[in-house]
Amino acid sequence: MLNTLRSIVQEVTGARDLDQALDVIVTRVKKAMSVDVCTVYLADRDRRENVLMATDGLNAESAGAIRLKDKLGLIGLVGAREEPLNLADAPTHPQYQYFPESGEERYRSFLGVPIIHHRQLMGVLVVQRTAKKRFDEDSVTFLVTIAAQLAGAIAHAEVSGGINGLSKGAKGRARSITPLQGQPGSPGVAIGTVVVSFALADLKLIPDRKSEDTKADIAVFKKAVTGVKKDIQAMLERMKAVLPAEDRALFDAYLLMLEPNGIPADVIRHIKQGNWASGALREAIGEHVRAFDAMEDAYLRERGEDVRDLGRRILAKLRSNEPVAPKKYPLRTVLVGDEITASMLAEVPIKRLVGVVSVRGSQTSHVAILARAMGVSAVMGVEDLPVGRVDGRPVIVDGYTGRVYINPPRQVREEFKHLLQEETELSRELHELRELPAITPDNVGIPLYVNSGLLADISPSRRSGAEGIGLYRTEFPFMIRDRFPGEDEQCQIYRQVLKSFAPAPVTLRTLDVGGDKALPYFPIEEDNPFLGWRGIRISLDHPEIFLVQLRALLRASAGLGNMNLLLPMVSSVSEVDDALRLLRRAHHELIDSGMSISMPRVGVMIEVPSAVYQVRELARRVNFLSIGTNDLTQYLLAVDRNNARVANLYDSLHPAVLRALQQIVDGAKAEKTPVSVCGEMAGDPAAAILLLGMGIDNLSMSAANLPRVKWVIRTFTRRRARLLLKEALTFEYAHSVRNFLNAALEDAGLGGLVRAGR
Ligand code: PEP
Ligand code: MG
Repeated sequence: MLNTLRSIVQEVTGARDLDQALDVIVTRVKKAMSVDVCTVYLADRDRRENVLMATDGLNAESAGAIRLKDKLGLIGLVGAREEPLNLADAPTHPQYQYFPESGEERYRSFLGVPIIHHRQLMGVLVVQRTAKKRFDEDSVTFLVTIAAQLAGAIAHAEVSGGINGLSKGAKGRARSITPLQGQPGSPGVAIGTVVVSFALADLKLIPDRKSEDTKADIAVFKKAVTGVKKDIQAMLERMKAVLPAEDRALFDAYLLMLEPNGIPADVIRHIKQGNWASGALREAIGEHVRAFDAMEDAYLRERGEDVRDLGRRILAKLRSNEPVAPKKYPLRTVLVGDEITASMLAEVPIKRLVGVVSVRGSQTSHVAILARAMGVSAVMGVEDLPVGRVDGRPVIVDGYTGRVYINPPRQVREEFKHLLQEETELSRELHELRELPAITPDNVGIPLYVNSGLLADISPSRRSGAEGIGLYRTEFPFMIRDRFPGEDEQCQIYRQVLKSFAPAPVTLRTLDVGGDKALPYFPIEEDNPFLGWRGIRISLDHPEIFLVQLRALLRASAGLGNMNLLLPMVSSVSEVDDALRLLRRAHHELIDSGMSISMPRVGVMIEVPSAVYQVRELARRVNFLSIGTNDLTQYLLAVDRNNARVANLYDSLHPAVLRALQQIVDGAKAEKTPVSVCGEMAGDPAAAILLLGMGIDNLSMSAANLPRVKWVIRTFTRRRARLLLKEALTFEYAHSVRNFLNAALEDAGLGGLVRAGR
């Protein structure tokens, strides 16, 4: 059963569009369960109806024609109760509805299970038999399992249908164009053209892309095949000495599959149909693999893996001849991918990049942070996005609400153009605050700093009116190189950063790799990377890396005197003691070599729950504290900051997070140690009210958010912020806190911030 299930799901996932996916479901499930009828009903949310979309067993014409109000009939009952309904004699059930056009009267037993995706009812999957007998438990669990597995694939196919212009459906069934939902990653609206970026070695992730020159693509592909054939022949030669002829048959089979009428014929067919060579290869290999996977014989099924292997080999050869980046990026490029990385972002000319959409990741993923630093709209965690089918399409990215529109209709485009205009006006208003200080009406100064990580974002940072850099993530320059940067190279980068704001303060954080920040040349394989070898833990375990960085930092600060150092991921005081010892050692070494460098101010990031409870001990050891609300929220709520599936649970306004923050501020004050916030929460205008009320000394955020937060600081007195905080701390839900703060912003005449953040 497991194999059948897997192969049905695979076939559905590979379907061209929704109609094909549904046809596969009904025929394969009917056969697998040996029933007389299998039918899929999908929910039409706009019309609040369930529509019979595909059937194997009932009259074929009833597809698209039978519609039931969403609470009616047995289908309505399954949908409303969200659990299976197993009946021996369906027609005798009081809620049974008879449709003469279906030809259903012959069937007595009925088993219906809901299809649910992310808590939302997508439809109902039904099987029926003529026999008057309830379905056994195995049948029920099989259908429940298959419905659960298919929910995502159906959502995926539904979106593809819309994208391919099949919003009417091949069988004339109207479907409304709904946006894809992800998470807001970086604020702003972008209207542009999709460029798909993908991991080079993964065949599955290769997108469809229009072939620019069919003949050239066929030639490139043929060359790749010749290369692979040569490699296999060479392997065959080497193996002759060690393997008997029958075991070498595998290589012969590989060569056979590469004969002109084998896999190459199918790839060339797809190229001729308009796909580029890599995309055509993915299509052809997919077809062959699916054919093998569907075989009953276990030995033959395994051959699917050989086809995949061949596909990977051809792809590797193609890579050296076929360019993957477009020759010229469109003027308003929106980078789309399964997992967009910092280096993919860096490949696009900065002036052409307007948006980022990633299937994986969330608001606090580092790509989102980078996008915010660059002022580029981003939506993260768009799980249902069919990446392979959207290259070159027009797209709208709404970084405020987390919605993405592929092939948007005209009225949606007009609406967003209007919004872009409003946004420009708001920015103009905010720009006027640039030269004004961040001081509350009751005269409390809250310096606003920027978060940075690349030299490229230093200019926007300066333009934002920031009073310094509150967090420079030193790992970013490490991430976009192919080896550890040397001491001199690091020193140069840090000096440039320090000089850009001197004499204003610049806080440089020591290396914080691990978690979701991997260095390509320093791979770390772990089951729980966020709970693993990360930040200060790596630095202390590798003094040879840490000392080089500390020396580079100290040397860079010579004569400037504006450097603060920040230690990430501290979970116990001994880490601070050890890091300070190494810092003093590096400092002594430099002094001994005759340099004149002062010791920087040192701070600790409070971003792990244990640090909250030892905040006073930590505060006593250093000059300042900086709260990393991105990680603190993730660790307090046990919600992976990168996992789109649990993203709805991630909220820095969660009452537990607010209480922890107050505890940190109180602890720091008791030790007379200044405390700031440098997580993304600092850039949220609503949250800034609470942080002001708590007594935070300064805030550090993305340049794009700084003017909005300055507006808040210049509008709310600390006294008022304290009162609002007091009330906010009485709420039990994060969303109540959010609504309460939005109302306060509206009351204060800052409704523009709420509307922009819709
Ligand atoms: C944080 O965790 O809030 C933080 C500022 O650091 P990073 O996002 O780099 O982990
Ligand atoms: Mg952090």
